[in-house]
Amino acid sequence: MSTGSRYTGLIEHYRDRLPVSADTRVISLGEGNTPLVQLENIPREIGKDIELYIKYEGLNPTGSFKDRGMTMAVTRAVEEGSRAVLCASTGNTSAAAAAYAARAGITAFVIIPEGKIALGKLAQAMIHGAVVLQIKGNFDVGMRLVKEVASEAPVTVVNSINPYRLQGQKTAAFEIVDELGRAPDYHCLPVGNAGNITAHWIGYCEYAHHDEGEVTAACGFCEGASCAYGGRGVTDTRPVMVGYQAAGAAPFMRGAMVDHPETVATAIRIGHPQSWDKAWKVREESGGWFDECSDEEILAAQKLLTSREGIFCEPASATSVAGALRDIQSGKIPEGSTVVCTLTGHGLKDPDTAIKQCEGAMQTVDAELDAVKDAILKHLA
Ligand SMILES: *Cc1c(COP(=O)(O)O)cnc(C)c1O
Repeated sequence: MSTGSRYTGLIEHYRDRLPVSADTRVISLGEGNTPLVQLENIPREIGKDIELYIKYEGLNPTGSFKDRGMTMAVTRAVEEGSRAVLCASTGNTSAAAAAYAARAGITAFVIIPEGKIALGKLAQAMIHGAVVLQIKGNFDVGMRLVKEVASEAPVTVVNSINPYRLQGQKTAAFEIVDELGRAPDYHCLPVGNAGNITAHWIGYCEYAHHDEGEVTAACGFCEGASCAYGGRGVTDTRPVMVGYQAAGAAPFMRGAMVDHPETVATAIRIGHPQSWDKAWKVREESGGWFDECSDEEILAAQKLLTSREGIFCEPASATSVAGALRDIQSGKIPEGSTVVCTLTGHGLKDPDTAIKQCEGAMQTVDAELDAVKDAILKHLA
């Protein structure tokens, strides 16, 4: 626990549930503790009696949930004497790796797909001083290269195959239960590599543990052994986990890897998910499901959140809301439910896609009182 009441990041806050010791030098930027915002206008407009929340992960220090995993991964990398971290990234992992490496005083190498990374994310990786390696290949190719090079160079991989990433990310589930007093009935997430949906399930399971030895198969740390967190549960409830992929990058729906994933939601433009088996275990253990959303649905949900609720997330994030709204409307998620949708990244990450969605939203007027007044009155008429 931190001294006083100042919030100093998720490792300090959940120290007794994370793989750190009293001597660990914590590399933190104050991540976590993100707002759980109840949507007001959208449920009313669709006429459904639903308690619908978004977990606004875009308000983490570098603008995405990746910070939760990165504080843990970089903290452990430094503790183990590593001088450099390496990741493949669709953008947000590279932004987080670059920032936390800067904080720690080590080097970040990031491999990104040429031309397919949102502008804000690229700016972050570069300004924090990461060594940015653009490849003529997509994320999946980058991930393969990372795994290959990691055995030949003195670097720590900080993609979500690094188990500390999931340990950091599980704290989002803790925060939700701490705030609601119980787990939601449904938790909806966008799915790329499926690390985050796995991490949330680990968190929910740990918080629901009451008996020593009760384990979740999806949790890499608990698997096959008794759980380190057994007997310290704080709730009896766990949610149904629902994962949505972009239709052009939906290997879970195809039942096979996708070699040429395409979607406007670049953060989940992934055809070879690294946590394939874990994600299916999460689905099975939680009684959940996977589904897919078209790019049109994703962009419509992004616009709905910005225009009706004042919440700006990046396209990939809106996938959770696009899918949840469809399942709420069809009754698959029944009325009376409490639903949390994770909004994984901030809208400012991808300004190009946002502006493209708003054609005609800007008018040019003369710099004169009459012209401005006319424009206002015309709009209000
Ligand atoms: C990384 C990321 C995802 C996908 O998370 P996975 O753990 O790979 O499933 C979704 N949205 C955003 C904004 C991301 O940065």
